Amino acid sequence: MKRLSIIVPCYNEEPALHLFFNVLKQEVSKLSVSVEYIFINDGSKDKTLQILKEIKVNNLELQIHIINFSRNFGKESGILAGLKESTGDFVVLMDADLQDPPYLLSEMLRQMEEEDYDSVATYRVDRKGEPPIRSFFARKFYQLINKISDVTIMDGARDYRMMSRVMVDSIISLSEYHRFSKGIFAWVGFNTKYMEFENVERIAGETKWSFWKLVRYAIEGIVAFTTAPLRISIFFGFVVSFMAFFYMVFVVIKALLYGDPVAGYPSMMTIILFLGGIQLLSIGVLGEYLAKTYMEVKHRPNYIIKDRY
Ligand code: UDP
Ligand code: MG
Repeated sequence: MKRLSIIVPCYNEEPALHLFFNVLKQEVSKLSVSVEYIFINDGSKDKTLQILKEIKVNNLELQIHIINFSRNFGKESGILAGLKESTGDFVVLMDADLQDPPYLLSEMLRQMEEEDYDSVATYRVDRKGEPPIRSFFARKFYQLINKISDVTIMDGARDYRMMSRVMVDSIISLSEYHRFSKGIFAWVGFNTKYMEFENVERIAGETKWSFWKLVRYAIEGIVAFTTAPLRISIFFGFVVSFMAFFYMVFVVIKALLYGDPVAGYPSMMTIILFLGGIQLLSIGVLGEYLAKTYMEVKHRPNYIIKDRY
């Protein structure tokens, strides 16, 4: 019998976990595979770990592994730890809030086994229950990253996806520290089937993503997958130099024809501020890449496991 690993990163999921696991267990019992559950407690500040232990004790007949991080390392680290820990022929990533509906599992498995896909990914067709401003920026982000980088990321793609062993192993083999999974999934390639489903709101607790966290995440994604912003600075540099050259010619001719009364304070200020702005922006972009490089060369582990249950 084939084996399926279900990876669930959990951060402060106390209100959702019991309900989540009951629904999941129900669905899993319909599958014709043996299943291992891998829960990652990502430094939760509530009773998440305690509840996970309860779930394990109450279901001794099931294979449940709990990895307990020493602090909160973020979902990406949780995903990586789960992937490394997994032993299944198929591996699926899932959120603990039932936003990734477990009833899709059987269809995902079918696609993997019968249609021979290496990966079955999900994307939501709408962004119901999300602030419109957030949806707007999310859409823009996907348009932007798809335009300027080599990878193509489906708008609305979730991390909820099932993968074959080879694909998981290839993902683990990427050793970068800044992990932008949505990009990595696309980057490693393989045959991916996209399944759509309607957005569901989380059953309990609240989202861990504030607007600014999402902005940071978007910048991470862009910096991790393309160096286009660096080239944009070069482009700006060219354009500005070009304009400056013509302006210089203009100023010289004007001075020759009409003399040079001391004037032009507004135009000078505008130019200085404009150039200063572009320079700071470019240095900022450069700094962003440098900072990432700095973190990468430190070769720190993505997470630290405190204990396992
Ligand atoms: N999560 C995590 N570490 C974090 C933040 C979130 O492991 O630092 C987990 C969280 O417990 C959940 C999943 O990642 O299982 C998705 O989080 P959330 O539901 O807050 O994100 P959203 O669905 O709103 O994108
Ligand atoms: Mg969620």
